[in-house]
Amino acid sequence: MSDCIFCKIASGEIPSNTIFENEDFRVILDNGPATKGHALVLPKAHYADLYEIPEETVMGAVKVAKTVAGTMKEKLGCDGLNLVQNNGAAAGQTVMHFHLHIIPRYENDGQHILWKPTSPSSEELVEIRKTIVGE
Ligand code: AMP
Ligand code: ZN
Repeated sequence: MSDCIFCKIASGEIPSNTIFENEDFRVILDNGPATKGHALVLPKAHYADLYEIPEETVMGAVKVAKTVAGTMKEKLGCDGLNLVQNNGAAAGQTVMHFHLHIIPRYENDGQHILWKPTSPSSEELVEIRKTIVGE
């Protein structure tokens, strides 16, 4: 994708703060980080989102995230870590090249990567289950 910024970063055409690289992925520091060390796993090939990315590639991205997560715990001393992956504008995706956020968390870091729980009835849950599994 010639006009995709993450393609250009992943290929090295645009410089980035790379913290890990292999043949298929580059991991960069997010330039608008939620916390110290917030990083993005970028596949070098262009896939818009979870729907497009092949299963094998998404598994590779998770493996890379696991490696980097271990490094962050050791080197940054984070107290926790979120993996976040947004698909579609409705879910907050702003760059339409698949990426996996690795967000190290620190006690009292002031971030809220949470949602507001709702209270569906048990009937509603049964209906949703039926809609999804088709029975
Ligand atoms: P998302 O909202 O899941 O699409 O996340 C996009 C992320 O990419 C945001 O956290 C941005 O801060 C980050 N981002 C956008 N452009 C760049 C860039 N040139 N270098 C590093 N991070 C970027
Ligand atoms: Zn791309």
